[in-house]
Amino acid sequence: MAAKLLEAKKLCASYGATQVLFDVDFSLEPGQITAILGANGAGKTTTLRAICQMVKTSGSLTLDGQSLIGKGTESVVRMGVAHVPDGRGTFTALSVEDNLKLGAYTRRDRHEVAGDIDKAYQRFPRLAERRHQQAGTLSGGEQQMLAISRALMLRPRLLLLDEPSFGLAPLIVAEIFRIMRRINEEDGVSMLVVEQNANLALDLAHHAYLLETGTVALSGPAEEIKRDESVRRAYLGY
Ligand code: ATP
Repeated sequence: MAAKLLEAKKLCASYGATQVLFDVDFSLEPGQITAILGANGAGKTTTLRAICQMVKTSGSLTLDGQSLIGKGTESVVRMGVAHVPDGRGTFTALSVEDNLKLGAYTRRDRHEVAGDIDKAYQRFPRLAERRHQQAGTLSGGEQQMLAISRALMLRPRLLLLDEPSFGLAPLIVAEIFRIMRRINEEDGVSMLVVEQNANLALDLAHHAYLLETGTVALSGPAEEIKRDESVRRAYLGY
């Protein structure tokens, strides 16, 4: 069995005195897409924030065997974790191209950065057309494309995506999810995707976890979770 990319054991997270995650166990295999599903307020976003050390955490949380607990967010980024937060998090006053350049801020291999920017434009030709446009003037779908592309400029070992489908038209969502799959298949980028749209997430992911009120209610291969009667009734709508 290959070593885990990320492993959480008895992970707890809280905002001040309010505990949100309770003894959560999960692990990510390198090269795979893992989904976290769950209703509003289940703790999905908080799980991503816990990995990035943006909330107070306890328990065990390791990336390639190295503990993340107590590390600053900046160190977690330098260890190769890129986060596309909900609301996208692009620099709205900067151009598309400057956003992409900023995404590579931790890298020393300047000559390869230009090649990666070209690759982003090949993946998302709409971004190439708008390279000199301010990010704030892009459509929601284009901003999501930019947010993903900017995160990839880090050449991450793990890409965290928070609700990539949120607020977008179905056609745009389909395009973005198709490209996410390609990024995983062609470049081997491991992903952890938080989604309220369980149908979409289970079609994309290899493995899934279902969170309910800050605990893991169910986990397994995405195909199995999809067939689970209670998941179908509560989350898939059929
Ligand atoms: P959603 O899809 O609504 O974002 P979620 O599963 O991502 O749901 P979280 O955002 O992780 O859920 O929130 C889990 C719980 O933590 C909720 O009860 C929420 O009210 C609480 N919470 C989130 N952010 C904070 C905060 N900054 N301070 C205090 N409580 C918070």
